[in-house]
Amino acid sequence: MKEYPLTDLLITGTEINYLSICPTKLWYFAKGITMEQESEWVDLGKFIHEQRYASEEKEVLVGSIKIDFIRRGDTIEVHEVKLGKSMEKAHEMQALYYLYYLKKLGINAKAVLHYPKLNETKEIVLDGREEEIEWAIKEVERIKSLPSPPRPVKSKKCKKCAYYELCWV
Ligand code: SF4
Repeated sequence: MKEYPLTDLLITGTEINYLSICPTKLWYFAKGITMEQESEWVDLGKFIHEQRYASEEKEVLVGSIKIDFIRRGDTIEVHEVKLGKSMEKAHEMQALYYLYYLKKLGINAKAVLHYPKLNETKEIVLDGREEEIEWAIKEVERIKSLPSPPRPVKSKKCKKCAYYELCWV
């Protein structure tokens, strides 16, 4: 599996996240196509984030990644706040990408996913999962380079997807 030098890591955490949700969604997003419904969900997420984590420094930008907040203790912790667990795999991949990216900077960190509506957290560590994230990076690059969106596949995820009309109407 290709190991990526930091200078080659130009993709965002959201793109890694969308890869796990739907390649078609990833393609639309990567081409800068955004829809109203998407921003409503983002606004709701931001509102919960602001209320619940008011004392944290928000949206820490490190190169091409934007982390919800970071805590510095014995170990650096990157924290991501999510609305619900229906896209848990996507959240996990996004967190893994952040850890992979930070490791390239010489920073060993762990990630914590927060689900404030469920009062749950989940810890993520990179150990032994580098190949998984390298595969995902390669796949994001491949999908972004396609001249047209991958054929949509209907699933229950489509109901809340901002691109529903583009795919199915
Ligand atoms: S509507 Fe469904 S198939 Fe289309 S982009 Fe969204 S999740 Fe993917």
